[in-house]
Amino acid sequence: MTPTPNDIITLGHGGGGRLMHDLIVNELLAASDVMSETDLEDAALIADGRLAISTDGFTVKPLFFPGGDIGKLAACGTINDVAMRGARPRWLSVAMIIQEGFALEDLRRIIRSIRAACDADGVHVITGDTKVVGRSAADGIFITTTGVGERFADPAPSASAARPGDRVIVNGALGDHGIAILAAREELSLGGSALQSDCASLLTLTEAIVGAGGSGVRTLRDMTRGGMSAALNEIALASGVSLEIEEDSVPVRREVRGACELLGMSPFEIANEGKLVAIVAPEVAEEVLAAMQEHELGERAAIIGSVGGGRAGRVSARTALGTSRLIDLPAGELLPRIC
Ligand code: MG
Repeated sequence: MTPTPNDIITLGHGGGGRLMHDLIVNELLAASDVMSETDLEDAALIADGRLAISTDGFTVKPLFFPGGDIGKLAACGTINDVAMRGARPRWLSVAMIIQEGFALEDLRRIIRSIRAACDADGVHVITGDTKVVGRSAADGIFITTTGVGERFADPAPSASAARPGDRVIVNGALGDHGIAILAAREELSLGGSALQSDCASLLTLTEAIVGAGGSGVRTLRDMTRGGMSAALNEIALASGVSLEIEEDSVPVRREVRGACELLGMSPFEIANEGKLVAIVAPEVAEEVLAAMQEHELGERAAIIGSVGGGRAGRVSARTALGTSRLIDLPAGELLPRIC
């Protein structure tokens, strides 16, 4: 029998939206005897909560792009997921699947990027794995990193910890990574501008946020695949709250907004690799915002909304016209192989 679209994995299943969420909940969680739909954090706490661990695979295309490459992405992506639980990444494993014929010089560049990103944060690569597959069995190189960090935040920020009245803060303009990758892949000209991926480690920004907000820092989440829309929906669901944002207060670069209009996409659904959303208690919101704005990765930080008491899982945006629209989990295939 020919498989139907319901019987096979599609690129959309990797998009970070509804399809991926359903795949995880309906199929993949069966592998675990401890994880659940409401416990999908960026990193898991282990060793009585002293350590956080996270793993992530990277398949980005092209491998080298404005603002970074797959090596920097693979290091920073996992560093960020560990940092989102209020932990300082210390150890990293790096597993590579390399295609036969891959240029050694490109591999060296990627390895240098991993090392530079790790050195910047005091992270040590302590183990790894290398596999080589035939020419048609992969596309260049795929990298999987696993990071372990020591927790410094108490309590650990959690997707399930947002409470009504809390404020929602982002550290800067949304959508740079996704649009920069797309532009590099399609050789799109974005008005002659040199838009760069925001690929960066969020560790020191996270330390600044926790330093300013203390136990008032409820939730931290990096807004990767599925962008801000996916992150906010996951938080609203895990915390059993509603979230309301002011659409006009969300920073987006002019060229990203323009590209999104051209492509019929929402900047809220585009992947970032150096942007996080922080949900913090109202009494620490101004201090956290100020600390973020003092950091080089938070100059355009903004309070974009708050946690409401509405229907659990609902995320909405108030528009400039005073109307309200639903911000849903992105539906299907957004941009494949963005990270
Ligand atoms: Mg994450």
